[in-house]
Amino acid sequence: MVKPADTKTAASRKSAPKGTRSAAETEKIRAALSARREELTIEHSQTLTEITVLQRDRFTDSAGDDQADTGTKTFEREQEITLANSILDRISQVERALERLEEGNYGWCERCGNPIPVERLAAFPSATLCVTCKQLEERR
Ligand SMILES: [Zn+2]
Repeated sequence: MVKPADTKTAASRKSAPKGTRSAAETEKIRAALSARREELTIEHSQTLTEITVLQRDRFTDSAGDDQADTGTKTFEREQEITLANSILDRISQVERALERLEEGNYGWCERCGNPIPVERLAAFPSATLCVTCKQLEERR
């Protein structure tokens, strides 16, 4: 993929040293992260609704339940709670990412210092390595 920065002249590239992103790019990342937070918030409330439903089901049709049914329901509910908690974790990851973005130290590869592509950050807000470095890490 050709980034807009690559098409710029050497002179203008010099004025934007490594370690800065264009305002437009920062804005793109912010938009992607905000959209992500929005999605996760919706996912979280859906999960909470499912937990409520599971909880209600336990009360309404537990009359004919044997121990196995009760066990399954408890397990399902625990899984939903684990899921809800992991979504909350992801929301706080995105929020931390937004804060770091404001400070200007978000979205840089910890290994090579290159900017991590916006798409990757949108998919993995907690990514600290670019795809190339990540692959190198995994190969070890
Ligand atoms: Zn890298």
